[in-house]
Amino acid sequence: MYKRVLLKISGEALAAGRGFGIDAIFVSRVAEEIVELAKSGCQVAVVVGGGNFFRGVAEQAIHMDRVAADHMGMLSTVINAIAMQDAIEKLGVQCRVMSAIEMHEVAEPYIRRRAIRHLEKNRVVVFAAGTGNPYFSTDTAAALRAMEIRADVLLKATSVEGIYTADPKKDPEATMFSSITYMEMIQKNLRVMDTSAVSLCNDNNMPMVIFSMREQGNIVRVVGGEKLGTLVTS
Ligand code: UDP
Repeated sequence: MYKRVLLKISGEALAAGRGFGIDAIFVSRVAEEIVELAKSGCQVAVVVGGGNFFRGVAEQAIHMDRVAADHMGMLSTVINAIAMQDAIEKLGVQCRVMSAIEMHEVAEPYIRRRAIRHLEKNRVVVFAAGTGNPYFSTDTAAALRAMEIRADVLLKATSVEGIYTADPKKDPEATMFSSITYMEMIQKNLRVMDTSAVSLCNDNNMPMVIFSMREQGNIVRVVGGEKLGTLVTS
C-alpha cells in the first residue's frame, strides 16, 4: 500500500525488555521484516532512537549540562543504527547509515538528495544522530526526515498496540483508538510523541500509524495496508 515509508524504532524496543543495550536476536528479527519490505519493492528509511543507552532528560543525566547529555543521547542512536545496518546487510540488502552529526569513518553525512537516491536504488537508509541538535527527540527527527524524503507515512513501531484512551496497564477500561487526529491527541493530552513531532506532522499532513512490533510480521502487515494500531491524521 505504501511505496516509501519512514519507520521509527525506539531504542528501548531494541533492548527488547532487557531495559538496556541491544538484543541482537530482536534486532535481526526487525531486520528480517525491513528486508522483506525492501525486497518487495517498498522504499524503507529508518530512524532509530537511543533510549536503550542514554537519554538527555533521563535521571542518569540529571547533573549534566543538557546539551552535553543530548550529545551523548544522539551518539547512542548511532550505535543502534550500526547494529541495524549490520543485521540488514547480513540478510543481503544494502543499507546506508546517514548521520546528522558528521563522523565520516562510521557513517555517511546526512544529505537529503543522497538519501533519496539510496532509497530509489532500493537501499535501506538508517538515519542516525536524530536531528543533530540538542533539545530534540528522535520522534521529531522521524517526523522531519519523513517530510524531507516525502514518505507516504510515518510508522511508529512501539511496544504497545496503539493509542489508548488511558494507560492500559493502569486502567482496565482503556480502549484503543483505531484512528484519531493530531489535534484530538493534543486536546486529550495523549502523550504518544512529543509536541514538536506532533505539530510537525499535523502542519504538514503527514499521516502516522502507531502499532506494536512485538508480534513478528506487523511491520510488513501495516505497510501492506492491514488495519493495525492507530492511524493518526491531520
Ligand atoms: N537527541 C537529541 N536530538 C535529537 C534526537 C535525540 O538531543 O534530535 C538525544 C536526546 O538526548 C534523547 C536521546 O538523543 O533523549 C535519545 O533519543 P530518544 O530519547 O528520542 O530515543 P528513544 O526514546 O526513541 O529510544
